[in-house]
Amino acid sequence: MKAAIISGLNSLDVKTVPVPQTEPGSVMIKVHSCAICGSDIRIFRTGNHRVKYPAIIGHEISGEVIEIGEGVSRFKIGDKIALGADVPCGQCSWCLNGMGNCCDENYAVGYQFQGGFAEKCLIKPMVVQYGPICHIPDRVSMEQASLAEPLACCINGFERVEFKAGKSVLVIGAGPIGLLLSQTARAFGSSITMLYDNDPQRLKNSHIGRPDYVIESSADLIKEVQEITAGKGVDVVFVACASGQAQKLSLKLVAKRGSVNFFGGLAKTADDIAISSNDIHYKEIYVTGSHGSTPVQHEQAMTLIAASRIDVGQLITHRYSLDDIAEAFEIVEKRNGLKVVINP
Ligand SMILES: [Zn+2]
Ligand SMILES: [Zn+2]
Repeated sequence: MKAAIISGLNSLDVKTVPVPQTEPGSVMIKVHSCAICGSDIRIFRTGNHRVKYPAIIGHEISGEVIEIGEGVSRFKIGDKIALGADVPCGQCSWCLNGMGNCCDENYAVGYQFQGGFAEKCLIKPMVVQYGPICHIPDRVSMEQASLAEPLACCINGFERVEFKAGKSVLVIGAGPIGLLLSQTARAFGSSITMLYDNDPQRLKNSHIGRPDYVIESSADLIKEVQEITAGKGVDVVFVACASGQAQKLSLKLVAKRGSVNFFGGLAKTADDIAISSNDIHYKEIYVTGSHGSTPVQHEQAMTLIAASRIDVGQLITHRYSLDDIAEAFEIVEKRNGLKVVINP
């Protein structure tokens, strides 16, 4: 089969490799779509200790079941399924308590397990048993289904801030995740949704996030947010960019007893940031983080997509065949598009 093989930092080649053998408990899919995630670019450029070379990465996957290993009853040949990233080990206390994304083993599709930048993908028994795999409803296209994974991560963010309808939301960062968070805020009943980015280019597509307010200039962001929220600040701020500055700023923008969510991680090499603990203290702020998602959230994401509550399709700006994956990576890296999908 054809696959995009990462054999070291900055080394990506499309090669013909042997098709992995289906084993008991496993499932083989023909990959229809695999969207590129920012984390795929990070693996390609800076590596990840969970990815061993040669590797096939990509975790925003949809496809059709073409082979079934002995003992699998959950799927049958011809099923259309979507995969997420984080795979609970199924054994540890985190996983047993529904917190598979916090598992110490941190297993993930496209990391320890083969990913979707290939014509076929063998889904290993542990992933079949515990992983984020859901059936794709007829009304959802294969490309849309591949984006259930990033949407699941957004749902996790809303759970971490214990979001309730009627709260105001500010999303900092208008990349694909920022736009999805903004759409999700609307879908979950936010009173006001604001979207901010200091890069005007990024705001070209702001309408996809369906915000009530798009805020462009960074100079008077605090003032502008105060004006919009009648001086109270925002109930929930999502920081959907890899910026320590934005994380610091979020504490100035959030309302009393409001929540901030550090959705985007900072680079491994970034220094720790100093934040105002007195803001947290006097404003009684909830500072939360979120990373990844659980199989349940993946399922919820698919439900929201099927019900057209969230339009993930609007985020897809580019489509490429597997042969042109290097060009596709470049589009994502240079931020020349939103979601870029590989259709092998
Ligand atoms: Zn992803
Ligand atoms: Zn675990």
